[in-house]
Amino acid sequence: MRKKKLAVVSKECVACGCCQKECPLGAISIFRGLYAVVDAEKCIGCGKCAKVCPASVISIVNREGQNEKEKALV
Ligand code: SF4
Ligand code: SF4
Repeated sequence: MRKKKLAVVSKECVACGCCQKECPLGAISIFRGLYAVVDAEKCIGCGKCAKVCPASVISIVNREGQNEKEKALV
C-alpha cells in the first residue's frame, strides 16, 4: 500500500527522544544525539510523534504534495 503522509522534523528539534519512543514502527532515530531523523521508508504518517513532541517541530506532510513541490523546483 502506498503511504500518503510523512513526518518531517524541522531544525528546531531539541533531540529529546520523545518521538523516537512513541513511533510504533521505529521510524525515528536521533542522529548523533543532535536531532531526530525520520526514515521515510518506514514512516506511515500516523502523527503519533507529532502529538508528543514538546517543541512542536514535527509536521505531517502529504507525500504527493511534497513531490509536486520538488517537481516545481526542477
Ligand atoms: S508519523 Fe507515525 S510512523 Fe511516522 S515517524 Fe511519526 S510516529 Fe512514526
Ligand atoms: S520529540 Fe520533537 S524535539 Fe524531541 S526529538 Fe522528537 S522532534 Fe525533536
